[in-house]
Amino acid sequence: MLLNEITRVLVVVAHCDDAEWTFGGTVARLADAGAAIDYLIVTDGASGGVDLSVTDGELAATRAEEQRAAAKVLGVRNVTFLDYHNDELQVSVDLKRDIVREIRRTRPDLILTWTPYRNPDASIDWAHGDHLAVGEATLQAAYPEALMPRIHPELTSEGLAAHAVREIWYPAMADADCYIDVSDVVETKMDAIWCHQSQNGEANGDRSWLFDQRVAPPMHDAGRYLAAAYAERFRRVVVGA
Ligand SMILES: [Zn+2]
Repeated sequence: MLLNEITRVLVVVAHCDDAEWTFGGTVARLADAGAAIDYLIVTDGASGGVDLSVTDGELAATRAEEQRAAAKVLGVRNVTFLDYHNDELQVSVDLKRDIVREIRRTRPDLILTWTPYRNPDASIDWAHGDHLAVGEATLQAAYPEALMPRIHPELTSEGLAAHAVREIWYPAMADADCYIDVSDVVETKMDAIWCHQSQNGEANGDRSWLFDQRVAPPMHDAGRYLAAAYAERFRRVVVGA
Protein backbone atom coordinates (compact mmCIF):
# COMPACT_ATOMS: atom_id res chain seq x y z
CA MET A 1 0.00 0.00 0.00
CA LEU A 2 1.59 3.26 -1.15
CA LEU A 3 1.29 6.44 0.91
CA ASN A 4 -0.93 8.16 -1.67
CA GLU A 5 -3.34 5.19 -1.65
CA ILE A 6 -4.08 5.68 2.05
CA THR A 7 -7.09 7.88 2.71
CA ARG A 8 -7.78 7.27 6.41
CA VAL A 9 -5.34 6.50 9.22
CA LEU A 10 -5.87 5.67 12.88
CA VAL A 11 -2.88 6.05 15.20
CA VAL A 12 -3.23 4.01 18.41
CA VAL A 13 -0.54 4.64 21.03
CA ALA A 14 -0.20 4.40 24.79
CA HIS A 15 0.99 7.88 25.74
CA CYS A 16 1.07 11.49 24.68
CA ASP A 17 4.29 11.96 22.64
CA ASP A 18 4.58 8.29 21.52
CA ALA A 19 3.34 9.01 18.02
CA GLU A 20 5.57 12.03 17.45
CA TRP A 21 8.76 10.30 18.60
CA THR A 22 8.06 6.96 16.99
CA PHE A 23 6.54 7.78 13.62
CA GLY A 24 5.87 11.52 13.55
CA GLY A 25 7.59 11.82 10.17
CA THR A 26 5.32 9.21 8.63
CA VAL A 27 2.26 10.93 10.12
CA ALA A 28 3.42 14.22 8.56
CA ARG A 29 3.95 12.58 5.17
CA LEU A 30 0.54 10.89 5.28
CA ALA A 31 -1.10 14.21 6.14
CA ASP A 32 0.79 15.94 3.30
CA ALA A 33 -0.50 13.21 0.93
CA GLY A 34 -4.07 14.08 1.96
CA ALA A 35 -4.94 11.28 4.40
CA ALA A 36 -7.41 11.99 7.21
CA ILE A 37 -5.60 11.03 10.41
CA ASP A 38 -7.07 10.40 13.86
CA TYR A 39 -5.17 9.74 17.07
CA LEU A 40 -6.29 7.44 19.87
CA ILE A 41 -4.24 8.01 23.03
CA VAL A 42 -4.96 5.17 25.43
CA THR A 43 -3.55 6.32 28.80
CA ASP A 44 -3.83 9.57 30.76
CA GLY A 45 -0.06 10.06 31.03
CA ALA A 46 -0.48 10.87 34.72
CA SER A 47 2.70 9.13 35.91
CA GLY A 48 4.98 10.61 33.23
CA GLY A 49 6.73 13.14 35.44
CA VAL A 50 8.99 13.41 38.48
CA ASP A 51 7.79 16.73 39.96
CA LEU A 52 5.52 15.58 42.78
CA SER A 53 4.24 19.13 43.41
CA VAL A 54 2.17 18.72 40.24
CA THR A 55 -0.98 16.64 40.73
CA ASP A 56 -1.76 13.67 38.51
CA GLY A 57 -4.74 15.58 37.12
CA GLU A 58 -2.67 18.67 36.33
CA LEU A 59 -0.01 16.59 34.60
CA ALA A 60 -2.60 14.68 32.56
CA ALA A 61 -4.23 17.97 31.48
CA THR A 62 -0.87 19.47 30.49
CA ARG A 63 0.07 16.40 28.48
CA ALA A 64 -3.28 16.35 26.70
CA GLU A 65 -2.80 20.00 25.67
CA GLU A 66 0.74 19.23 24.46
CA GLN A 67 -0.63 16.30 22.47
CA ARG A 68 -3.32 18.40 20.80
CA ALA A 69 -0.71 20.99 19.83
CA ALA A 70 1.66 18.34 18.44
CA ALA A 71 -1.14 16.69 16.47
CA LYS A 72 -2.04 20.04 14.95
CA VAL A 73 1.57 20.56 13.84
CA LEU A 74 1.51 17.22 12.01
CA GLY A 75 -1.90 17.79 10.37
CA VAL A 76 -3.89 15.29 12.45
CA ARG A 77 -7.67 15.66 12.28
CA ASN A 78 -8.75 14.65 15.77
CA VAL A 79 -7.32 13.36 19.06
CA THR A 80 -9.32 11.03 21.32
CA PHE A 81 -8.16 10.12 24.84
CA LEU A 82 -9.28 6.90 26.55
CA ASP A 83 -7.74 7.87 29.92
CA TYR A 84 -6.69 4.43 31.09
CA HIS A 85 -4.26 4.86 33.97
CA ASN A 86 -0.64 5.23 32.92
CA ASP A 87 1.66 2.24 33.62
CA GLU A 88 -1.20 -0.15 34.40
CA LEU A 89 -2.28 -1.09 30.88
CA GLN A 90 -3.25 -4.71 30.20
CA VAL A 91 -4.64 -6.42 27.13
CA SER A 92 -8.26 -6.61 28.30
CA VAL A 93 -11.69 -7.02 26.78
CA ASP A 94 -12.52 -3.43 27.78
CA LEU A 95 -9.39 -2.02 26.11
CA LYS A 96 -9.95 -4.03 22.94
CA ARG A 97 -13.61 -2.93 22.78
CA ASP A 98 -12.57 0.71 23.14
CA ILE A 99 -10.06 0.34 20.28
CA VAL A 100 -12.59 -1.53 18.10
CA ARG A 101 -15.04 1.34 18.68
CA GLU A 102 -12.53 3.81 17.23
CA ILE A 103 -11.65 1.52 14.33
CA ARG A 104 -15.31 1.14 13.41
CA ARG A 105 -15.99 4.85 13.92
CA THR A 106 -13.01 6.19 11.92
CA ARG A 107 -12.81 3.27 9.41
CA PRO A 108 -9.07 3.48 8.64
CA ASP A 109 -7.17 1.88 5.75
CA LEU A 110 -4.04 1.93 7.89
CA ILE A 111 -3.37 1.70 11.63
CA LEU A 112 -0.07 2.83 13.11
CA THR A 113 0.58 1.40 16.56
CA TRP A 114 3.25 0.09 18.91
CA THR A 115 5.35 -3.02 18.41
CA PRO A 116 3.59 -5.78 20.41
CA TYR A 117 6.76 -7.67 21.43
CA ARG A 118 10.09 -6.99 23.09
CA ASN A 119 12.74 -6.19 20.49
CA PRO A 120 16.19 -6.61 22.07
CA ASP A 121 17.79 -4.44 19.37
CA ALA A 122 15.52 -1.47 20.07
CA SER A 123 15.93 1.13 22.78
CA ILE A 124 14.38 0.08 26.09
CA ASP A 125 11.44 2.47 25.82
CA TRP A 126 9.93 0.26 23.11
CA ALA A 127 9.43 -2.38 25.84
CA HIS A 128 7.37 -0.19 28.19
CA GLY A 129 4.51 -2.41 29.38
CA ASP A 130 1.90 0.07 28.16
CA HIS A 131 3.47 0.01 24.67
CA LEU A 132 3.48 -3.80 24.48
CA ALA A 133 -0.13 -3.94 25.71
CA VAL A 134 -1.44 -1.32 23.30
CA GLY A 135 0.33 -2.98 20.37
CA GLU A 136 -1.13 -6.41 21.15
CA ALA A 137 -4.60 -5.07 21.97
CA THR A 138 -4.66 -3.09 18.72
CA LEU A 139 -3.64 -6.09 16.62
CA GLN A 140 -6.40 -8.16 18.22
CA ALA A 141 -8.89 -5.32 17.81
CA ALA A 142 -8.12 -5.03 14.09
CA TYR A 143 -8.16 -8.79 13.58
CA PRO A 144 -10.59 -10.30 14.09
CA GLU A 145 -12.66 -8.11 16.38
CA ALA A 146 -13.36 -5.02 14.22
CA LEU A 147 -14.46 -7.11 11.27
CA MET A 148 -16.76 -9.55 13.05
CA PRO A 149 -20.17 -8.04 13.92
CA ARG A 150 -20.90 -10.65 16.59
CA ILE A 151 -17.84 -9.61 18.59
CA HIS A 152 -18.67 -6.65 20.87
CA PRO A 153 -22.36 -6.69 19.82
CA GLU A 154 -22.97 -3.53 21.86
CA LEU A 155 -20.91 -1.63 19.26
CA THR A 156 -23.10 -2.98 16.49
CA SER A 157 -26.06 -1.73 18.55
CA GLU A 158 -24.39 1.70 18.64
CA GLY A 159 -24.56 1.69 14.84
CA LEU A 160 -20.86 0.94 14.36
CA ALA A 161 -20.67 -1.56 11.51
CA ALA A 162 -17.85 -4.06 11.09
CA HIS A 163 -14.76 -2.70 9.35
CA ALA A 164 -11.74 -4.36 7.73
CA VAL A 165 -8.49 -2.43 8.18
CA ARG A 166 -6.17 -3.00 5.22
CA GLU A 167 -2.81 -2.86 6.99
CA ILE A 168 -1.22 -2.26 10.39
CA TRP A 169 2.31 -0.88 10.62
CA TYR A 170 4.36 -1.04 13.83
CA PRO A 171 7.97 0.04 14.47
CA ALA A 172 10.59 -2.54 13.56
CA MET A 173 14.33 -2.85 13.12
CA ALA A 174 15.96 -5.97 11.62
CA ASP A 175 12.51 -7.34 10.79
CA ALA A 176 11.35 -4.13 9.07
CA ASP A 177 9.77 -4.50 5.64
CA CYS A 178 8.52 -0.94 5.11
CA TYR A 179 10.71 2.18 5.06
CA ILE A 180 9.32 5.71 4.84
CA ASP A 181 11.64 8.51 3.73
CA VAL A 182 10.99 11.37 6.17
CA SER A 183 13.93 13.59 5.16
CA ASP A 184 11.65 16.40 3.98
CA VAL A 185 9.57 16.49 7.16
CA VAL A 186 12.13 16.14 9.98
CA GLU A 187 11.66 19.77 11.02
CA THR A 188 7.90 19.26 11.22
CA LYS A 189 8.45 16.11 13.29
CA MET A 190 10.82 18.03 15.57
CA ASP A 191 8.30 20.88 15.91
CA ALA A 192 5.73 18.30 17.06
CA ILE A 193 8.12 16.63 19.53
CA TRP A 194 9.03 20.06 20.90
CA CYS A 195 5.36 20.60 21.82
CA HIS A 196 5.77 17.98 24.56
CA GLN A 197 7.68 20.28 26.90
CA SER A 198 6.68 18.39 30.05
CA GLN A 199 8.53 15.36 28.69
CA ASN A 200 11.61 17.06 27.22
CA GLY A 201 13.33 18.06 30.47
CA GLU A 202 16.61 16.33 29.65
CA ALA A 203 17.13 18.80 26.79
CA ASN A 204 17.20 21.78 29.21
CA GLY A 205 15.59 23.89 26.52
CA ASP A 206 18.18 22.93 23.88
CA ARG A 207 16.20 21.83 20.85
CA SER A 208 19.31 21.13 18.77
CA TRP A 209 20.69 18.84 21.46
CA LEU A 210 17.43 16.89 21.59
CA PHE A 211 17.39 16.50 17.81
CA ASP A 212 21.06 15.50 17.51
CA GLN A 213 21.18 13.16 20.50
CA ARG A 214 17.72 11.60 20.60
CA VAL A 215 15.55 12.28 17.55
CA ALA A 216 17.95 12.01 14.62
CA PRO A 217 20.00 8.84 15.35
CA PRO A 218 17.28 6.19 14.87
CA MET A 219 15.96 7.97 11.75
CA HIS A 220 19.48 8.28 10.37
CA ASP A 221 20.09 4.58 11.00
CA ALA A 222 16.86 3.63 9.19
CA GLY A 223 17.70 6.02 6.36
CA ARG A 224 20.78 3.98 5.40
CA TYR A 225 18.49 1.33 3.95
CA LEU A 226 16.89 3.84 1.58
CA ALA A 227 19.96 5.95 0.87
CA ALA A 228 17.93 8.74 2.49
CA ALA A 229 19.02 11.19 5.15
CA TYR A 230 16.22 10.12 7.52
CA ALA A 231 13.65 7.35 7.50
CA GLU A 232 11.20 5.57 9.78
CA ARG A 233 10.79 1.81 9.51
CA PHE A 234 7.96 -0.58 10.18
CA ARG A 235 6.74 -4.14 9.98
CA ARG A 236 3.56 -4.43 7.91
CA VAL A 237 0.70 -6.69 8.92
CA VAL A 238 -1.80 -7.22 6.11
CA VAL A 239 -5.33 -7.66 7.43
CA GLY A 240 -7.75 -6.98 4.55
CA ALA A 241 -7.44 -6.57 0.80
ZN1 LIG B 1 5.07 5.83 25.66
